[in-house]
Amino acid sequence: MDYFPVFLDLKKRRCLLVGGGEVATRKGRMLAKAGAVLRVVAPEISSELRELIASSGGELFAREYQTSDLQSCVLVIAATDIESVNEKISADAQALNLPVNVVDTPALCTYITPAIIDRSPLVIAVSSGGEAPVLARLVRAKLETLIPASYGKLAQIASLWRDRVKARFSDGDSRRKFWEKILQGPAAELMMNGQETAANNFIASELAADQAELTRGEVYLVGGGPGDPELLTLRALRLMQQADVVLYDRLVSDGVMELVRRDAERIYVGKRRSEHAMQQENINQLLVDLAKQGKRVLRLKGGDPFIFGRGGEEIELLAQNHIPFQVVPGITAASGCAAYAGIPLTHRDYAQSVRFVTGHLKSDDTNLQWPELANPTQTLVFYMGLVGLKEICESLITHGRAASTPVALIEKGTTQEQRVLISDLNSIADVVAQNDVHAPTLFIVGDVVKLHNTLKWFKAGN
Ligand code: SAH
Repeated sequence: MDYFPVFLDLKKRRCLLVGGGEVATRKGRMLAKAGAVLRVVAPEISSELRELIASSGGELFAREYQTSDLQSCVLVIAATDIESVNEKISADAQALNLPVNVVDTPALCTYITPAIIDRSPLVIAVSSGGEAPVLARLVRAKLETLIPASYGKLAQIASLWRDRVKARFSDGDSRRKFWEKILQGPAAELMMNGQETAANNFIASELAADQAELTRGEVYLVGGGPGDPELLTLRALRLMQQADVVLYDRLVSDGVMELVRRDAERIYVGKRRSEHAMQQENINQLLVDLAKQGKRVLRLKGGDPFIFGRGGEEIELLAQNHIPFQVVPGITAASGCAAYAGIPLTHRDYAQSVRFVTGHLKSDDTNLQWPELANPTQTLVFYMGLVGLKEICESLITHGRAASTPVALIEKGTTQEQRVLISDLNSIADVVAQNDVHAPTLFIVGDVVKLHNTLKWFKAGN
């Protein structure tokens, strides 16, 4: 280890910053954030830095650096572009055993500043020992995406409840377990969603509960998008990585499943048309049972859970059983397929509205309003329509939509195997019959489909 990491308490302490340009201003900003009193020395000082000096209760010397500037300072930063001045500051500071940093000159530094992820009071510092600052910044960017902006709030609850938790659990082991559960469970999720009171109530009830009740689980109903794992939301990914058990169905792509926590138990609940691995009622009940065992249950669905996803039914039973849950939206197949096929769903010249329609005509509760669907300025996106394709096209034509209306059928949209077949209402069923098409497929009806040729991505298969 080339450098020893420490976190300095700079509150109300004087720090010397030599330099008044852009770099010095950036450093001044960080020092001010940490509550330092700024002493800035430079012939010219930026207006932002002047404001920072004033608000930190610091001092400003509009002149060249001199050794006496170091007096009563606890930390030194040299950000001038004159080498000889930087060298002198470094030598002077080291003679007084003051920690000194000369920007971008490791040889003159006794400490270096890391890339920072600030979720105060949680602060993460990343350093490459000055060898590869860009790499350190890339690592920071990765961590930024992994650690939600609201993570700092967890430290707040931890600090608020620390003494009470200590009183409740005298041995360190059960205390640690309790905190692990709180910081990865419903209380943490509530806190990060801005529901502070509910989070505190939850912790209070957990603390009051006896040991048996302490095992309360929760359910995450998560939209896994149409296939491409890169279309997952950050929240979806985070919950996928903390779940104990996952219930998934056929529409969830392999690429998405690979991102679920490795040691999570996996339960396939099927759902191919007419071949259900598990009845919906049983899925609903299983979610309740697993959560009651104290598990963090991920119900992972293709696309968006609230669009032809029966997500509403699944959480209804959870709500009745007072099981904490949250719903995470996903990119629905219509958006994903349209974007990846270069077909805008609305367009000033072609379509002023878009409808997502079920094509599952045989279901008892399907009763499509055909006359409404015939409106030529409206894009239609049919989900689950492959089997009924011919019937749907004929009904649209019968009710007045032009037989020449363009249709795009998108197979396995957004995945590596995506295929797009273009035709019109009159002929699409024949085109599909000739092309050995496999589920999942979705089709888009409307003049916007004309844009496919100009807007499609340049890649093989399209
Ligand atoms: N909740 C899902 C839809 C579930 S209904 C969502 O929001 O996307 C299942 C139907 O979605 C399939 O029959 C198919 O019409 C469509 N679908 C889902 N993923 C698809 C994909 N990758 N490509 C094409 N169609 C897809």
